Amino acid sequence: MSIEYNKGKLFCGRLNIETITRDIGTPLYLYDYQQIVDNLQSYINAFKEIDPLICCAYKANSNLSICKLLTLLGCGADVVSGGEIFRALKVGVLPEQIIFNGNAKTKEELEYAISNDIFMINVDCKDELYLINQIAHNFNKKIRISIRVNPHINPITHPYIATGLAKSKFGMDINAALDIYKEASMLENIIILGVHAHIGSQITSVGLLTENLKKLVNLTNDLAENDIKIKYINVGGGLGIKYHKEEIPQVEEIAKTFIPIIKKAGVKLILEPGRSIIGNAGIIVTKVLHTKETSKKKFIVVDAAMNDLVRPAIYGSYHRVIPLSYKGEDIEEVDIVGGICESGDFIAKKRNMPRLFKGDYLAVLDTGAYGFSMSSNYNSRRRLPEILVKDEEYYIIRHRENYEDLIAKEEILDDEVLQSL
Ligand SMILES: *Cc1c(COP(=O)(O)O)cnc(C)c1O
Repeated sequence: MSIEYNKGKLFCGRLNIETITRDIGTPLYLYDYQQIVDNLQSYINAFKEIDPLICCAYKANSNLSICKLLTLLGCGADVVSGGEIFRALKVGVLPEQIIFNGNAKTKEELEYAISNDIFMINVDCKDELYLINQIAHNFNKKIRISIRVNPHINPITHPYIATGLAKSKFGMDINAALDIYKEASMLENIIILGVHAHIGSQITSVGLLTENLKKLVNLTNDLAENDIKIKYINVGGGLGIKYHKEEIPQVEEIAKTFIPIIKKAGVKLILEPGRSIIGNAGIIVTKVLHTKETSKKKFIVVDAAMNDLVRPAIYGSYHRVIPLSYKGEDIEEVDIVGGICESGDFIAKKRNMPRLFKGDYLAVLDTGAYGFSMSSNYNSRRRLPEILVKDEEYYIIRHRENYEDLIAKEEILDDEVLQSL
C-alpha cells in the first residue's frame, strides 16, 4: 500500500490520513484504490499468456464498491453463500463469472445459484452432488460443476486456514475422486466441467501451490482415460501477503511455473485469490483512548477491538501498527488492546512502539482481507465505516453503523406477553 510519512504525517497516496479522522472520526477501515488495482493487475499481467478466469474470493472483502471495482477490472467472483451471490449480482458480475464454493450449501442457496445460471458449482460432497442434480432436474436445467478434491497437502500455514489436509473438512479425497466423477458423469442434469482444490490460505511457497496444480493435472489425466473430459483446473486461492517477516513469492514466479503446466494439460486455469488482492490494500485507523501501566505491562487502549479485527484473537496474527504522526525512536514495549470484555481482545502484543499518548492515532496495517468481512457487533459495538482513497480524495463506501442499525432486526415482546410466558 502506498502509505508513507510525509513531513511526519502518514499519507495514503496524496491524502493525509489524519484529515479523514477529523471528518468522520475513528475507528475506520481505509482502502487504497491503486493498490487493489495493482494487485489484480499483477495477476492479469503475469498470467496473460493463458488468460485465466480470475474470480476474487468475496469472503476476504465483500464491500460492494470494492467488488464493483474488481468487476470493472474484469474479475469474476468466488462466492461461498447466497449472500455473496447476491452481492456479486448486485455489482454486475456476469453469472458466467461466478463460482459457488463451500462445504455447507443449503438447498435454498443452490436454488438461488441455479436459477441465476451461475457459471459453476464446486461440489464438496456426494450428498451435495445428488441434491444439485435433483434441483437442476426440477428447474429443467443442466448444471456445470467441478468437484472439490482434497489433495492431502500441508500448506504450512495456521491450522485454522489449512484446508487441504487429509483430516480437513473440505472436499473429497483425491484418491476417491475418480469414482465420484464416474458417478457424476451418470447424472442426467450434471455437466462435469472442472476439478478444484484449495489447500489453504497465507501460503508462502510456490512449491506447495505447484504440487496442488500437479495433483489436479494428474487427476485430469486419469479422468481423460475414463472418457471424462476436464476443461477447467481451479487451483483456488491461498497466496500469502507480507504481514511481518514472511518471504512472499511474486505472482510472476507462480505464473512462470504454472503456465507451461497448464498449456501442456490443455485446460483453462481458474484462480480464486482473496488475501493477495485486498490484504495489503487496507488499514484500520484507530485512536488511543488511554495508556495504562500495571506492574507487569504497559497497555495502549484503542477504540478498535477484536470485533473489528478478529484475526489476532483467533489466529494470533501479526499486524504491523504505526502511528499516524511520526513519533521518533523512543521505544517501549506495549500491548495494544481494544475495549471488548475478553482477554483475547488485542490488536498487538509485546510490540515495540514509540511513546504513545491519549489522542494519538494508529494505523493497523494489512487489514484489507478478512478484516471488515469477519467483523461483528459483539458487545453491541457499531461496525466501522469503510473508506476508499484515490490520490488526494476519499470516498465513503460504507457508513458507520448507528445504534438503530444494531437493533433493526430485533423484536421487543410486549410486557404482557413476556410475563405470560
Ligand atoms: C478462502 C478461499 C479462497 C481465497 O483464499 P485466499 O487465501 O484469501 O486467497 C479461494 N477459494 C476458496 C475455495 C476459498 O475457500
